[in-house]
Amino acid sequence: SDHDLVYPISPAHMNWASYYPAYIKPSDSKANPSTDNLAEDLRNQHLGRAAFPQLAQDVEVADIGCGFGGLLVALAPRLPNSLLLGMEIRTQVTEYVQERIKALRIQKSTEGLYRNAACLRANSMKFLPNFFKKAQLSKIFLCFPDPHFKARKHKARIVSTTLNSEYAYVVRPGGIVYTITDVEDLHLWMVGHFVKHLSFERVSETEQEADECVGVMRTETEEGQKVTRNNGQKFVALFRRLEDPPW
Ligand code: SAM
Repeated sequence: SDHDLVYPISPAHMNWASYYPAYIKPSDSKANPSTDNLAEDLRNQHLGRAAFPQLAQDVEVADIGCGFGGLLVALAPRLPNSLLLGMEIRTQVTEYVQERIKALRIQKSTEGLYRNAACLRANSMKFLPNFFKKAQLSKIFLCFPDPHFKARKHKARIVSTTLNSEYAYVVRPGGIVYTITDVEDLHLWMVGHFVKHLSFERVSETEQEADECVGVMRTETEEGQKVTRNNGQKFVALFRRLEDPPW
């Protein structure tokens, strides 16, 4: 259940400093030390204690339902100028990814890389606009989302008319939502819902295949690797966030 989920009341209330310490604004580095504990940060805010340090740039790439973090870890060195965030609902899986990134950050051979990647526990179906402001993201990844096969479970799918409006809110015009699944029915469902949404258009196959993130998405997620081992099919679709129409 979500009862123990902690989330900021707005993006301005989110303390990113403990997730991306290398990106703290130099002028803020002496601000309140980050606690590495979102609950404590929020408590401090309620008590009116000092504000937390701000980052020099915003998170721009979100991997929703990131699982064990294969995509994050593969993309971080390829997108060195962006901050990447994995969002995962399972506590232990989130902690695993956090440890994985921590280890990579200090490993001698990869030192300096991976400072731009982090993972937090969240129910992305409920609290996305609490974490990101309008048009903040340039890319969202929805990789092998749980298929929820039964019709009465379809409302649990992470692509729906309502959720697509949330994705449209947090993704900037020109930004891309990446989807991949081994379940054809879910693929058709995702394509149907995005194409129907006024804020998105499907990216052409030529452009899709030229995007280096697509190759990474096919080969580097843990779920994608499982599908490969089982000789399964992978269905990919990308959607571009359109400009809002002039009113
Ligand atoms: N994207 C990863 C991959 O491709 O290897 C993991 C895919 S796994 C089938 C789906 C993941 O989504 C699981 O780790 C699950 O815990 C997570 N998840 C499901 N619902 C979620 C939600 N509402 N918010 C965040 N994560 C969620």
